[in-house]
Amino acid sequence: MALNRDKAIIKLKTESKWDMIIIGGGATGLGIAVDAASRGFKTLLLEQSDFAKGTSSRSTKLVHGGVRYLAQGDVALVYEALHERELLFKNAAHLVKEQSFIIPVFDWFSKMKYLIGLKFYDLLAGKGNFSRSEYLSKEAVLEAIPGLNPKGLKGGVRYSDGQFDDARLAVNLAQTAADLDASVLNYIKVTGLIKENQKVAGVEATDLETGDSFTLKAKTVINATGVFVDDILSMDNPNKAPMVRPSQGAHIVLDASFLKGTTALMIPKTADGRVLFAVPWHGKVLIGTTDTPLNQHQLEPRALEDEIQFILTTAGQYLTRAPKRTDVLSVFAGLRPLAAPTKDTNSTKEISRSHKLVVSSSNLITITGGKWTTYRKMALDTVDKAISLNLLPARTCQTHNIAIHGHQVQAQKNHLSLFGTDEQNIRKLMKADPLLSSPIHQNYPYVKAEIKWMVDAEMARNIEDVLARRWRLLFLDAKAAVVLAPGVAQMMALCLNKDEQWIKEQITSFSKLAGEYLLIDENKGIKKQVQDKDLINA
Ligand SMILES: Cc1cc2nc3c(=O)[nH]c(=O)nc-3n(C[C@H](O)[C@H](O)[C@H](O)COP(=O)(O)OP(=O)(O)OC[C@H]3O[C@@H](n4cnc5c(N)ncnc54)[C@H](O)[C@@H]3O)c2cc1C
Repeated sequence: MALNRDKAIIKLKTESKWDMIIIGGGATGLGIAVDAASRGFKTLLLEQSDFAKGTSSRSTKLVHGGVRYLAQGDVALVYEALHERELLFKNAAHLVKEQSFIIPVFDWFSKMKYLIGLKFYDLLAGKGNFSRSEYLSKEAVLEAIPGLNPKGLKGGVRYSDGQFDDARLAVNLAQTAADLDASVLNYIKVTGLIKENQKVAGVEATDLETGDSFTLKAKTVINATGVFVDDILSMDNPNKAPMVRPSQGAHIVLDASFLKGTTALMIPKTADGRVLFAVPWHGKVLIGTTDTPLNQHQLEPRALEDEIQFILTTAGQYLTRAPKRTDVLSVFAGLRPLAAPTKDTNSTKEISRSHKLVVSSSNLITITGGKWTTYRKMALDTVDKAISLNLLPARTCQTHNIAIHGHQVQAQKNHLSLFGTDEQNIRKLMKADPLLSSPIHQNYPYVKAEIKWMVDAEMARNIEDVLARRWRLLFLDAKAAVVLAPGVAQMMALCLNKDEQWIKEQITSFSKLAGEYLLIDENKGIKKQVQDKDLINA
């Protein structure tokens, strides 16, 4: 079954009992849907917003073992993630590519430390597809990253990791699950759990577009809601202690001219002991991230002033051209669903990044923590857990060899390459109707056929779905996203049969949202992010 909302809603109304209902359509939930459906289980996934609206569109876009976790001695975690890196590279070649990183070194001790550490990283990775690490002279480092400040530089250690488009992979996972006959739905919120004999037997859910309510039965229910897991756990047991502690990470996006070239910069130890990446991404440079413990979680977190200052200042120390607020094309933040420590601590850097699987006495299965890179292993563990609890019959995992929807081994030629094999379908639409070949805006390459495809085959429901998570423009250049908004709204209205009022509302609400991704207010001059002290875990 293709990813089609109307058909999936009909199935919601007719299916008497699902094998598995998954709450949450981020990396974790979508991975579980693919795993369960590929084992032949009758699978339903419900996402309250769009796929990857939460943390899964706000990562640093690295498919990696995690060099810094190696520094922390978490060898097993790094080994597992490096294995998953290889599988993702193999199964989603249209979205995951090899990315070269350089750690600049300023003294002999650092040279030896990073070289030895990264040789060990190579060793853990095994043979695989990624290049081996090596030491580079100062001249070679500056040739690879011309934007790097040469002051005091002695050389650098180059290593390889993976880079991807997180939200597009989420959409492709939703399609993969649907191709395997799962029902996958966005904009449906789970509002309660149903129980039989004190065991979870399904969910209550509401369609946020129509207000329709559903009572849905299942043999097993999975809570894969990221930083929202405690909301679902409290539906099961209102007295449950929190399982997750959110930690915010912010990024800024700059023009590619700040780095120049295709190699990424990795700063292994910033002034406060963190790691900062500057990575070329879709023709821009993505710089981040931070690690700020928060007291609250929300779907649209905001970067704090301190985080922006920290990124700008640190980047300024390493680049020849120090970025200013006026240079920032987009700023975004995401919340890590870190497993809460047993003893309270303010240092979220020390809280484990490995995933945590918990079974409540009601048999509700909750999965949280982990990384995008390890989503497949998290899914495998979750479905195996449901089987080990005798909630589902035993069937072995298939995802090792399942190609993700769109998978093809081909160099990126233009932005349509991100659609993978679906590029051909978009080109067919353009051929069949020349009007669909026309651009949405004269200054940008995006064409109307892409929007038709996103609505018909990728479940895009509003202009944010297109501009934020399918084209990524909100994250790359928020001002450009606002410029394209009217054209996108008009084309979507045609596809979804919406009126002028809908178009107006879409443009207004999206422009407001995009304003939050900008540090400059065109009308009021320079804008400061709000530093909300209540949010910081004091
Ligand atoms: C700043 C930052 C950088 C990162 N960088 C990397 C990286 O480079 N590489 C890497 O491998 N990992 C990275 N990660 C980690 C990775 O992004 C996360 O581990 C992953 O995205 C978590 O996915 P998730 O599905 O668990 O959560 P989410 O993506 O948050 O998904 C949970 C979903 O549940 C939905 N939901 C909540 N309540 C309900 C309800 N009642 N009904 C229906 N749906 C509901 C939400 O809307 C949300 O979409 C990073 C994380 C952060 C914060």
